[in-house]
Amino acid sequence: MVTAEPVSHTALVRRARRINRELALLYPDAHCELDFKSPLELLVATILSAQTTDKRVNMVTPTLFARYPTAADYAAADRDELEKIIQSTGFYHAKANSLMGLGQALCERYGGEVPPRLKDLVTLPGVGRKTANVVLGNAFGVPGLTVDTNFGRLARRFGWTTSLDPEKVEAEVATLIPRKEWTILSHRLIWHGRRVCHSRRPACGACALARLCPSFGEGPTDPVVAAKLVKPGPFS
Ligand code: SF4
Repeated sequence: MVTAEPVSHTALVRRARRINRELALLYPDAHCELDFKSPLELLVATILSAQTTDKRVNMVTPTLFARYPTAADYAAADRDELEKIIQSTGFYHAKANSLMGLGQALCERYGGEVPPRLKDLVTLPGVGRKTANVVLGNAFGVPGLTVDTNFGRLARRFGWTTSLDPEKVEAEVATLIPRKEWTILSHRLIWHGRRVCHSRRPACGACALARLCPSFGEGPTDPVVAAKLVKPGPFS
């Protein structure tokens, strides 16, 4: 077991890369659990995924994508109809506002296309850094760290950061992990957070990272107790 003593940056980098390699072995097929076929579809699905599960979003998007195939369709959407389709994802008034505003902004400023740059994406309605990085990493192949609640919690448990601010977490993890690994690392952390390293009771006694993790013991260490906490997935 690794202690929680302060470690040098070099040691932190070495341990972070070992954790990333272990996660790669654990989750060889880690991927974005939202269904999409284009940057626009992924952008819309990511906006809808706020405060709900990817599984729930994937139940809604086949109908949504068929009804609104282009940015112009969202711009011209009938609000009641749009809200009805996305209602089960929660916060549907705000999400409808974002999708209609997104469609208008894409048509007015980007010829109806999703721009492939972070600085442009974050100017769009409903799009913060996390959503922008999801789209860059998964629809455009531009490496991005997508700091959601799972990512942030695990990064803190691994001692990669102490910050609760997603932007600071992103900046600190970026110094530990090679850029080309950023998107896949994000998926691996999210997968491990959903399956094993839960917020309330992490399954430490059943965790393959136990010997590398300075937070081992934050959850039950008994293997039998811990095994019952593991959620096998899939979550999509
Ligand atoms: S489950 Fe426990 S040992 Fe595994 S990563 Fe989370 S805190 Fe660390």
